[in-house]
Formats: sequence, structure tokens, C-alpha cells
Amino acid sequence: MGLLTEGTPLTWEETKKLASHVREHGINQFINIYKKLKERKGDVLKWGDEIEYIIVKFADEKREAKVSLRAIEILEILNEREHQHPDTVKYLWRPEFAAYMIEGTPGKPYGGTLAHFNIVETNMKMRRHEASEFLKEGECLMSITSFPRLGCPDFTDPPTKPTPHEGGTMSLFFPDQAVFSGHPRFMNLVRNIRSRRGEHVAINLPIFRDKNTKIPVDESHKVRKAAKPDCVYLDAMGFGMGCCCLQLTFQACNIDEARILYDQLTPLCPIMLAFTAASPVHRGFLTDVDCRWNVISGSVDCRTEEERGLKPLKENKFVIQKSRYDSIDSYLSPQGEKYNDIPILYNDEDYRKLRDNGIDHLLAQHIAHLFIRDTVSLFSEKINQNDEEDTDHFENIQSTNWQTMRFKPPPPHSTIGWRVEFRPCEVQVTDFENAAIVCFVVLVTRVILSYQLNFLIPISKVDENMQNGQKRNALKEEKFWFRKDITTHVSPPEATRCCAGTCCEQKECDLVGLMSINEIINGKTGDFPGLIPLINSYLNGMDVDADTHCTIQQYLKFIQKRASGEIFTTASYIRKFVTEHPDYNHDSVVSEIINYDLLKTLKDIQEGSKSCPELLGYSATSKTKENIPHALKNDY
Ligand code: ADP
Ligand code: MG
Ligand code: MG
Repeated sequence: MGLLTEGTPLTWEETKKLASHVREHGINQFINIYKKLKERKGDVLKWGDEIEYIIVKFADEKREAKVSLRAIEILEILNEREHQHPDTVKYLWRPEFAAYMIEGTPGKPYGGTLAHFNIVETNMKMRRHEASEFLKEGECLMSITSFPRLGCPDFTDPPTKPTPHEGGTMSLFFPDQAVFSGHPRFMNLVRNIRSRRGEHVAINLPIFRDKNTKIPVDESHKVRKAAKPDCVYLDAMGFGMGCCCLQLTFQACNIDEARILYDQLTPLCPIMLAFTAASPVHRGFLTDVDCRWNVISGSVDCRTEEERGLKPLKENKFVIQKSRYDSIDSYLSPQGEKYNDIPILYNDEDYRKLRDNGIDHLLAQHIAHLFIRDTVSLFSEKINQNDEEDTDHFENIQSTNWQTMRFKPPPPHSTIGWRVEFRPCEVQVTDFENAAIVCFVVLVTRVILSYQLNFLIPISKVDENMQNGQKRNALKEEKFWFRKDITTHVSPPEATRCCAGTCCEQKECDLVGLMSINEIINGKTGDFPGLIPLINSYLNGMDVDADTHCTIQQYLKFIQKRASGEIFTTASYIRKFVTEHPDYNHDSVVSEIINYDLLKTLKDIQEGSKSCPELLGYSATSKTKENIPHALKNDY
């Protein structure tokens, strides 16, 4: 969840007039944060996950499953608890874009001890359990990335209708009532993104072509010129922001370590996106993609026609290659600099101001680049701020640049240090899988720092991987650009060996090669060590209690099996379920009954009442606990 400012939202016309005001003060605020906190050091590893859930309502007699629009009621109760016991709550609950979504995080971040890995899954389980207490008969809290029939007729409970000609969303499919109404930020973003763009957002997903697939275009879609005839057309922010994801935030010991983590995790974003692929169905159709990423990216793409390069520049300053929701554009650490091989746009005056205030080139370029975006959400009470104390204008732009990685400065007057957020992963059905992925990524960060690994590849190659990683069955079938030699530290000879993008125009160069996810994660004898073997070697040197050891090993085994293709990704599992369902007509349609049976099955898997070795492997049980054994608490 991003910045939630209370107050009265401004219209787009009002907001637009204040765009340069927000830009100017947002940058001043960053400069002030930087000056105060650049020397901050000695912070320890802390980290935490964020999981988003969809409230699903099952009607067993009719064999129907809908999204339940009750997030607001459930959050009221959960937040009241938090309000009463702010220091002892074990889980924090926040609203998300949709009226059927909630987001949960641990009450406090985890620490640097390995024993923390053993409490993640229990926290996730109890978190789900806590929110589930307030569900009504037939409702279930599900960590699914996309609701398969989102935007189909009557997909909500209670029933609602889209209003294409009035209201905020003005979608052919997505009703305003499905947007969370407990805070004005969400509908305000919907309106302003559409107004800024000058037309509806438009997402055209290639359909999965089965033998009876008909082109899914309806007469009503033809009113929209953006609807491509052979695609699944989506026209609302809710189709993207109404998807769920799994995110992770890490605290670094200082700003330099945060830059390293930001850069080193960047090449892993597309890999982890493909690894966690979980959303093959959109608006009731099987598509040819397995992930939500391009859907969200398109769903908040506020670029005008000029900015998208469709018209000559007149009103706007830049042609911008990406949506504000996309893969990052530049590395931040000195080692990363030479791999910044795509154009990084910014206003020269913003960049100059940052530089004149002592901020180095890489960070100045990063911040100035974030600020090419206009604010799309502003509240009247927040226009005038004290740049020495407030950070809202900075956060306003920072939190609406939804990128694969986020570089987070410490909040003012807090004990929190420099952090980075890892944002590509799709959320998984079970707490076991989510915990395994979270622990795996945290372990990768430990290995990166301990062994000073180097994963850097040209940013253009990361972008290519982002697109390939979303394709159907990418985990098994695609190859990804990856750095061949990750263990040699950055050394001067490399500068001559590496083309930093120029010779990578050709298929391979000394620096990068095409690898499968299996090779990247499990390694290839003689060629590439693999992330899991590196983690195991790191763990060999560590003291850890027997239960935590066992849990970590179960998680790593699961990761290995999925990477090798021995078990399914969630997306392939869903595809198989749909295409083998007796009601499936080989026409790519996920009917009401198939949707119901699929979600019921996922619910049983989530609750453990159905074992599913093809998704989880045969031994998907850990020794997770509620608390860290007392003796290990201070063992950092
Ligand atoms: P967002 O920027 O996505 O709104 P939040 O501030 O809500 O993120 O926090 C996201 C995650 O960061 C949570 O899992 C939380 O436990 C974790 N977190 C909180 N404090 C810290 C910290 N000091 N260091 C690292 N992670 C933290
Ligand atoms: Mg969120
Ligand atoms: Mg987040």
C-alpha cells in the first residue's frame, strides 16, 4: 500500500495546475531527507513481507464464486484492534485498490537471525486466520493473484453493474463499487489517470488459442477504438490494481548497501516474476500470458498520446518508453553505472538542483527520473508543506512510480533506515509457498552481501527478460539473459571484457548468456553455480537450530523442484485445471462453473484439506512456529 493521505482530493484540472509545485517541493523534500540521513549507518537487517488477499464468496448451491465487496467492513474491525493495541499487534491490515482486497503484513519486521525464517509461515497462517474470523458464511480469504472472472457479468457480491457512461471508472466491465471506497485515493487515481491520459486505459492481452477459440470481441467493445479484435480487452485500472501480489522490504545497514541491494536484485525481478507466475486467466478467458505485470502496467498508464509517441510533442515534454508501473530504468550503485544502457529521461533543472545539493549523479538521475511523472493524486490539505519536515510531495511521486524495485529513504524522525522493496512476485495460493519464496529471496540478499556476488547485466536485457518472463509457461520454456560469472568481483579488466550493452546486440557476449530458470536457480555443473547451491554453502557456515534448519531445507527443496519444472507454477496448475475440466469446451472460456470449481480446489489446497503434490511437491511441510526460541532471540 502506498501513501494514504487523508483529505479532500482535487480534480484533475486542479491537480494538473499544481504538478510543478509538487515536483519542486517533492525534490526539495528529498534533498532535505538526503542531507539529514545520508550518513545514517549501523542499521541491521530487518525485513518484512506484504501479502494481498481477495475475499471470495462461494455460493455452493449455484456453483458460483464472486468477489465479496466487504473489505471496508472487515478492515474497520481489524484496524480497531490495531488502534487499541498498537505495540503488540501481530499483523497489520491495510486497504488496497479494490473493495474485495485487503493487504496484511507482520506487526513488526523480522530481524537478521536465521531463526526468523521459522516464524514467517506461522505469521502468514495466523494472519489469514485473524482476518478470516470476520468473514461471513461462504466467504474465504484467498491469496490468488487474479480473480479469473474479474470483469465478467455479475462477478461481485452483492451484484453490481459497470457504468460505461458515468461515474469514476466508466468501464464496460468494472463497476465503480468494486473500487475500495473507504479512502478517496483510489477512485481519485482512477479518474486522474484516465484524465491525464486523455482516454480509457487499454490492455489487450493475447488470448490462448485453443481449437474452438473464438475471437473474444463483443459488439460493445467496438465503441472503443483501442480494443484489439483478437485480444482480451480490458479498460479499467481495477483489472491491474485489482490483482494481488507478494512484496518484500529489506533494511540495509546504510545507503550504499541499499544501492547494492537495489541493483543486485534488479536482474532477479523477471526471474522471480516467471517463477511465481500465477495469473493466466483474465476476464473469464485463458490468455497467452502467465503473469499480471503487463496488465497492471497498462492499467495505470497515464501517458498521453504524445508521451506514447503517437503524436508529435506539443503539450508534453518527453516521449516516455514505459508506464509508471514498470521495470526500473537505472541502477544506483557505482558498479551498476556502466549497465545503464537505456535512455534515462529527466528535467535538467531537477537533476541540476539535486546535483547542486551534493547528490551524486546516479541518485540524482534516479530521483529526477521519478519526477518526470506528474502527480495523479493530490489532496487540498496537503498542498502547502514545510519542506524541512514534511515528505508528502516526495512520497506522492515516489509511491506512484510502481516499479519492480523501490529505493526507500528513511522516514523522517523514525528508527527506520534505508530500505529497498522487491516488488515483482505474484502471490501464491498457500502460506507454505509464500513463506518459501520470501525466505529464498531474503537468503539471496544474504548471499549477495556475504559473497559479494555480482548479478548486474545491462538494463535493456532486464527489460527483455521482463517481457519473456510473462509468456505462457516461461519458467520451463524461456531462456533469460543472466550474468555468466557472478562470483568474480567487479574488477578493472572487466571493463574491457564487458560491452555494457553494445556487443549484447548480438546474441551473447562474455558477460551475459541465455539461461533457463533451472540453470539460474539450481546451477549447471561446470558453468554456473546456481542460487540454491550458493545459499546452501552460505548456510553451511551458519549455526542454526534444528527446526529452522528443517524448515529452510523444505523451502529450498520446493524452490528447486519448481525451478527444475518437476512441479507446476500456479499459472500452469490453473491452466491444466481449466483445460481438463469436463465443462471446458476448448474455447479458452473459463465459465462460471469452471471458475467455481477452480477456486474451490485452490481453497482446499490453501487450507491443506487437499494435498497437491504437483503444485507443492510431496513434502511441503515445515516446522514453522509462532515464536523464536528464547535462547536464539539475541543471536544475530
Ligand atoms: P509500502 O511502502 O509497500 O507501503 P510498508 O511501509 O507498509 O510498505 O512496509 C512494507 C514491509 O516493510 C512490511 O512487511 C513491514 O514489516 C516491513 N518493514 C517495516 N519496517 C521495516 C524496517 N525498518 N526495515 C525493513 N522492513 C520493514
Ligand atoms: Mg500493496
Ligand atoms: Mg509494498
